Amino acid sequence: MTVDIKWAELGFEYMNLPYRWRAYWKDGEWYKSGLETENTIQIEEGAPILHYGQGAFEGLKAFKTKEGDIQIFRPDQNAKRLNASAARLVMPEVPEEDFIHAVKEVVKANAEYVPPYGTGASFYLRPTLIGVGDNIGVHAAKEYIFTVFAMPVGPYFKGGMVPTAFTTSEFDRAAPHGTGAAKVGGNYAGSLQPGIEAREKGYSDVVYLDPATHTKIEEVGSANFFGIEKDTNKFVTPKSPSILPSITKYSLLWLAQHRLGLEVEEGDVYIDDLDRFSEAGACGTAAVISPVSFITHNDHKHVFYSETEVGPITKKLYDELVGIQNGDVEAPEGWIVKV
Ligand SMILES: *Cc1c(COP(=O)(O)O)cnc(C)c1O
Repeated sequence: MTVDIKWAELGFEYMNLPYRWRAYWKDGEWYKSGLETENTIQIEEGAPILHYGQGAFEGLKAFKTKEGDIQIFRPDQNAKRLNASAARLVMPEVPEEDFIHAVKEVVKANAEYVPPYGTGASFYLRPTLIGVGDNIGVHAAKEYIFTVFAMPVGPYFKGGMVPTAFTTSEFDRAAPHGTGAAKVGGNYAGSLQPGIEAREKGYSDVVYLDPATHTKIEEVGSANFFGIEKDTNKFVTPKSPSILPSITKYSLLWLAQHRLGLEVEEGDVYIDDLDRFSEAGACGTAAVISPVSFITHNDHKHVFYSETEVGPITKKLYDELVGIQNGDVEAPEGWIVKV
């Protein structure tokens, strides 16, 4: 069976596919798991996810290679991060092998929706863990649901990789020692308003500063930041306990070091010291790499490489990463899981 989808025209939009994975937790164990066809979940009105935001999610992608195989990019890293988020929100772990099994089953069951090689589109998976059950006080839930649903999504850059602009904001996405490093919905709810304000002014999104001093770059609302230092070509990315540790960012850091032979650094990136960089990018599963054209801060506009062109190192990193994901470039050990 083949599905009638115009792969090249896909955006980043929800699609109701035939199958999703569900697993249920109660009394200390996962007691039921498997594929389901219904895209709605019935939960109790007192469910802690609804009132107290006790829930975490993940995002990862599967790709079809030239040979027609389907492969998933670093699902073990998403499993580990989901469990780190779960620990921060006092939720039970999803065992790594169960997470990877669930992701694979969802890919297999919906295989005809995995975009063909060469279309630029990919298959996006959204694992989610939520606290449910009857409840009213501020407590950890006594029951949990883990679900993995998925959909094909379009190339992030329809017209090719085009630099985009960001602005700083008075708002923070996370507290200094809050839940910034956990992939939880509350961080996103709080970023909607600054995101709208940024887009109204013509920016793609906000680049958030560190919540304690507002002097250092943390990350973009849904992507991490990196800069390429002038002269040295060092790959530099912010280090902070309130940044969400992007798997794409750590993949790029590794590739910069081991494939491009660059120096790398996780450290402070001061918003008033952007002149040290010749290129900059925002990176994440959805965006892959979004080159940063400029950042506006306190009415000062800082242009990186160019407002219209992609810098050479950003381009090399992009080609290496996307090549690995599509199976055209040899992957570092353990980065690719075949379905
Ligand atoms: C998911 C996410 C990212 C990107 O992480 P990847 O693992 O690269 O997809 C960056 N920032 C935030 C706030 C996120 O939630």
